Amino acid sequence: MSEEKSLNFIEEIVETDLASGKYTSITTRFPPEPNGYLHIGHAKSIVLNFGLTKKYGGATNLRFDDTNPITEDTEYVESIKEDVRWLGFEWANEYYASDYFDQLFQFAMNLIEKGLAYIDDSSSEEIAAQKGSPTQPGTRNKYADRSVEENKQLFLDMKSGLYADGNKVLRVKIDMASPNMLLRDPIIYRIKHAYHHRTADKWCIYPMYDFAHGQSDSIEKITHSICTLEFVPHRPLYDWCIEKLNTFPSKQYEFARLNMTYTVMSKRKLLQLVNEQMVEGWDDPRMSTISGMRRRGYPAAAIRAFCDKIGVAKRDNLIDFGLLEFCVREELNKSALRRMVVLDPLKLVITNYTQVEEWLSTENNPEDENGGVRNIPFSKEIYIEQEDFMEIAPKKYFRLAPEQMVRLKSAYIIKCDSVVKDDSGKITEVRCTYIPESKSGSDTSGIQVKGTLHWVSAAHAIQAELRLYDRLFKVEDVANAQGDFKDHINQDSLQVISHAYAEPALQQDETNQPFQFIRKGYFVRDKQSSADKLVFNRTVTLKDAWAKVVKKG
Ligand code: ATP
Ligand code: MG
Repeated sequence: MSEEKSLNFIEEIVETDLASGKYTSITTRFPPEPNGYLHIGHAKSIVLNFGLTKKYGGATNLRFDDTNPITEDTEYVESIKEDVRWLGFEWANEYYASDYFDQLFQFAMNLIEKGLAYIDDSSSEEIAAQKGSPTQPGTRNKYADRSVEENKQLFLDMKSGLYADGNKVLRVKIDMASPNMLLRDPIIYRIKHAYHHRTADKWCIYPMYDFAHGQSDSIEKITHSICTLEFVPHRPLYDWCIEKLNTFPSKQYEFARLNMTYTVMSKRKLLQLVNEQMVEGWDDPRMSTISGMRRRGYPAAAIRAFCDKIGVAKRDNLIDFGLLEFCVREELNKSALRRMVVLDPLKLVITNYTQVEEWLSTENNPEDENGGVRNIPFSKEIYIEQEDFMEIAPKKYFRLAPEQMVRLKSAYIIKCDSVVKDDSGKITEVRCTYIPESKSGSDTSGIQVKGTLHWVSAAHAIQAELRLYDRLFKVEDVANAQGDFKDHINQDSLQVISHAYAEPALQQDETNQPFQFIRKGYFVRDKQSSADKLVFNRTVTLKDAWAKVVKKG
């Protein structure tokens, strides 16, 4: 399908640039700020940037935009690298904006020498007041008239730590009357006496985002610098710096950031959820982070498929989370091994079964012809789901009920004869007889039944903890909902089933292997799982239960 897909608008630009000979090969970059873990929105940017050079050749750099020493950390750097690799991409070069600090300082000096930048002693309030408003031009203050020599000396003094934070800034001289407020002599350097995770205490002045970002692109000879729509008004400043410094003419292109229903995607908000312990950590399986989705069992291929499917938009929109889950199901249906696990057990005794045990063959994945088979133990006492039995059943109930027959998956047809109750009237046991000639694969009974149930042999069952997840938020558009975003957290987003019964094969299966627990959903082993205590996360249900609830209202 993807072969026939039409080009997105950025691919069109790239094809034009290659066809015209403007470039013989392209260079893109993914530029995260290492101040948090990556989320699904970043995945969109990663798939786009790396996807372009995968398709057209060239290189994609991983560049850490680490110009803000306060919020950044090496823990984040490591997690970002892990996530990009896990998504299936390898960068041509690993760069850090902080590696360019010397060069950026020289670029700033160059602007001063050209009379295009000046040191301003005003406070941030004064600078804001002089900026004017979108309808009123701003005014330039007396500091703009400083001589080149004075500016050079002051900038050197700023660098050598003579001044306190906020005491001075370096501004570029563009146009205090520009309708674009960002061009009204924007600040490109500020003083910050702070420890940086890579440059330590070497610097006490740091470049501002616009200056550092654009010039880092130029230094790396990025041909297509892709960012999100909020940077449209920054583009003239990006171009201005390149023109005045006569550096490599990188071009900025903007697309709509990914927003999704029932979740948040700003690192600031995700950090709040972590710090306030509303989730277990950045990789909590309910988080919109790549690490959370990985722990939850989302395959990288499903995330890539989702990013391709939604395309590259030029206008902001809100994507249904269900679409990502659809991609996850599509992928897992092909790769997940089928296993039988009973979440809410009800004991069933087969009174006419006289063997001690028997091992029955069953397929690992009917969707995969190379999936193979495994053996599952069958015996006189098994567990089925409570919800698969009703003592007084309605008409079209095709599961188990007194006098009714069902097939036990990959085993036999059974008929319910009676129930055993405790003093309170609760059913503790269902008693059945089985039809020996109805064995799956060699059924000569001629009996047709409508229901097939999953089951686990009681004597062979292993216990497991299952964690079932729901949406982390109750409202569709969390970012635009009234009040604080945390008011909308779904308090029932985690349900723990501490004693599920599983077939024994699960004890030996590989750690990262995805499973389909038949009729119950897709699951993956959690990182907290051990040989003593198996723990599984439900990745996604088999069907979209949420869509129905929403439709019903
Ligand atoms: P956040 O607001 O979540 O902190 P950010 O844009 O500040 O996001 P960066 O680390 O600066 O995060 O982003 C790295 C790259 O990922 C940027 O090019 C940015 O445009 C892109 N990106 C971030 N969020 C999204 C999103 N929701 N959809 C698409 N691209 C995104
Ligand atoms: Mg950012």
